[in-house]
Amino acid sequence: MTRLALAEKNSLGVEQSRLPTSGLFAMLTYRMTQPPPPRGRILVAEDVASIALVISRVLTSAGYEVEVVTDGQTCLEEALTNIPDLVILDIMMPRLHGLAVLRRLREDPRTHSLKALVCSAKDFRTERDEAMSLGAGFLVKPFNPEVLVAQVDALMGYATSTIENADTPEKPAVYHPKLDPRRPQVQFWGTRGSSPTIGGAYVRHGGNTSCMALTVGDDLLIFDAGSGLRELGSQMMAESRRKAHLFITHTHWDHIQGYPFFTPAYVPGFELSVLGCAGLGRDLEDIFRGQLARDYFPVQLEDMLGSVRFAHLPSEPPLVVGDASISWEYTHHPLPALAYKIEVGGRSVAWVPDNEFVQGYTGPPGALHRDHPIVVPHQKLIDFLVGTDIVIHEAQYSTEEYPNRIGWGHSSVSNAAALIKLAGIRHWIVTHHDPAHTDEFLERQLLLTRQVLEDIGHSAHVTHAYDGMIQLL
Ligand SMILES: [Zn+2]
Ligand SMILES: [Zn+2]
Repeated sequence: MTRLALAEKNSLGVEQSRLPTSGLFAMLTYRMTQPPPPRGRILVAEDVASIALVISRVLTSAGYEVEVVTDGQTCLEEALTNIPDLVILDIMMPRLHGLAVLRRLREDPRTHSLKALVCSAKDFRTERDEAMSLGAGFLVKPFNPEVLVAQVDALMGYATSTIENADTPEKPAVYHPKLDPRRPQVQFWGTRGSSPTIGGAYVRHGGNTSCMALTVGDDLLIFDAGSGLRELGSQMMAESRRKAHLFITHTHWDHIQGYPFFTPAYVPGFELSVLGCAGLGRDLEDIFRGQLARDYFPVQLEDMLGSVRFAHLPSEPPLVVGDASISWEYTHHPLPALAYKIEVGGRSVAWVPDNEFVQGYTGPPGALHRDHPIVVPHQKLIDFLVGTDIVIHEAQYSTEEYPNRIGWGHSSVSNAAALIKLAGIRHWIVTHHDPAHTDEFLERQLLLTRQVLEDIGHSAHVTHAYDGMIQLL
């Protein structure tokens, strides 16, 4: 067997790397230039070069002759042919586990009572007990060099007591991170489009219609009042919130139907601003009042005792609420429908639940480009989204469904993917799931969406929103 003598100053050159387990480097002998008289010969089995070097230096300085091998099998062979006074065994070694080496040594009469020290980072009762039952000492890595020497001295009969390793090396302070409630975050309360849905096949994504809340410090900005608004209202009551802003993209039913069940609006003193686009044909308040007409609901708008203010958005964005700056742009959807973009502290998120991008287009998404005639009418929205960190945008129809739903105001998966690419978006959350789409279907749609993005050469992180999902901005 080849041996290699290394001078003390000879660096192994590859700290933390694993030494070769066979050939020329299979066995290394470290020798001091002026070795003190040996107190005994120690065979060290350790495959991490930097640890082997430390053990070797420390024990050589303490007066021992040290031989290092880098795997369990070589250790066993060497221990049986050239019996040392003590063997130090790592546990997780190539070729043969350290405890297996120890077991085999105990089976052989020549090494049956060989002094042994197991030195491992595996501080488990199982390993410790087995090492002890095989008559070996146990030292946990990382260790203090003094403790190593003390343990070796004790095993070799040079000392009667050992230093406890427990308090060395110094342990860092315990790390317990806490969620920071002040960090802006988005929570989804309703991720269905068109109609609420219920049933076992829909539980993962949830069945409430459009509603998203953005918390920015003490401010709560709500986007759309679909059926998810009811549960958000309950949470607001539990948190004793006294104020909120509600931004409406448009007044289709799935975006306002939660409002009659929004408990905070019934609480005197609760301040709510309901904001939407002018040009809906009717006054925003009128539309909400209509939904609460006696024919549809037992309680009327006047019975909501909170101080609710309906207002049209200013003619020019942005609107500033606390630390948030809100801007908007029209989407391609029946009625004047809006996309909102919220910017907070250098980060931005866009809420675009309803948008039929490139209406009627059923061709490959890769063929679309900014100057394509069917894309040109959408350029304002594309420009609006460019640079947004997170875009929440629908992809309601599969490519199979879309040809029969052209003009319904919603995008096919492939057309939505094309928009995400054209706007250069890197993080896309898909919402406004079709009420007919089960969890299983949506799971496959998500895979397909990722595949389409990959096929058109756009790298973006894409996930499906689900009711209750929270996303830090
Ligand atoms: Zn909708
Ligand atoms: Zn709509």
